[in-house]
Amino acid sequence: MISDKLTQEQVEGVRRLLEPAQKVVVLTHMSPDGDAMGSALALYWWLKATKDVQVIVPNVFPDFFNWMPDVDTILICEKDAAKAKSLINDADLLICSDFNEPKRIGQLGQMAMEATCPKILIDHHLFPSDFADVTISYTDVTSASELVFRLIYQITNHQLPITNYQEMATCIYTGLMTDTGNFAFNSNYPEVYEIIAILIAAGVDKDAVYNHIFNAHTEGRMRLVGYCLNNKMRIFPDCHASLIYISGKELYRFNFKTGDAEGIVNMPLSIKDVYYSVFMREDKVADWEKERANGSKTKIKISMRSQGDRPVNIFCQEIYNGGGHKNASGGEYYGSLADAVNLFLSNYEKYFKKD
Ligand code: 5GP
Ligand code: MN
Repeated sequence: MISDKLTQEQVEGVRRLLEPAQKVVVLTHMSPDGDAMGSALALYWWLKATKDVQVIVPNVFPDFFNWMPDVDTILICEKDAAKAKSLINDADLLICSDFNEPKRIGQLGQMAMEATCPKILIDHHLFPSDFADVTISYTDVTSASELVFRLIYQITNHQLPITNYQEMATCIYTGLMTDTGNFAFNSNYPEVYEIIAILIAAGVDKDAVYNHIFNAHTEGRMRLVGYCLNNKMRIFPDCHASLIYISGKELYRFNFKTGDAEGIVNMPLSIKDVYYSVFMREDKVADWEKERANGSKTKIKISMRSQGDRPVNIFCQEIYNGGGHKNASGGEYYGSLADAVNLFLSNYEKYFKKD
């Protein structure tokens, strides 16, 4: 039996906001990952039977999500910001999924904050900001997708299946699987597997989802992985840490496409006695963030991972203006790659435990 994790107030709050809404817009975070895509599309499939639903993401997502059901209906704000703005202005309800603050969705954040319609936030990061009318925020779950499942489960009084059940379930499973590294971490409680049992009974082909996501890389990505591990990885044995950083020029050699760097940050953790891993890559500053970039043409995207009781979110927050989960965080640095690396080198000993 899956427990009712969401409070009655949350469930009733969502019911109250959903009932009169016809036009619903679902927003998720920058550089969408499997949980962002999965939770947003699961909400879409759930509501599609009775409402006019539109998912909007801030920027492009990797090709390995192209198989997801109705993925081609998603609007990418970076490609058509005017349309995103008009959809948000016309919406009766905004549902924000898998992010904790408007800053995490780029220019969509400002559009969402200017919208006068009610808002729901569904998230599993620390420190949710309080812009929403109903906030469903739990950090002790696998994913935002799990929270979407729990919401649907509770709001229907455990009366699954719903219309479009298999599509919804497939999207939920995608988020669960990707945010736990195929159930390698952050998934150590029985209810995760009870939920998975329900999803598989709903018709999810879990092996197919795995293949779509993890066995669908480009040749360039594979060679990039080899290059990063062989030529770029530095180990700091005193602090059990690893650092990989890569310039835009190097990425260009490997025909870099969105998503090609996904997962590289996790790899050094498979070395014995490496408990912290940091990956940095150089990116261009987009038009909408020029002001924030303060004259810099480059932005460094930082990803950090750790094992056990060794937080990396505090480092990301204090040094790179980012944040995230205890064992998986990120941030951005507007400036040169060398400066971002130097910031790491001058701070890691302070933050990383030596045990
Ligand atoms: P990734 O390394 O996969 O880009 O991100 C890992 C996690 O760190 C994400 O789930 C997200 O919560 C968080 N994260 C990544 N980048 C940022 C950032 O720039 N700001 C904040 N606040 N969190 C981030
Ligand atoms: Mn997530």
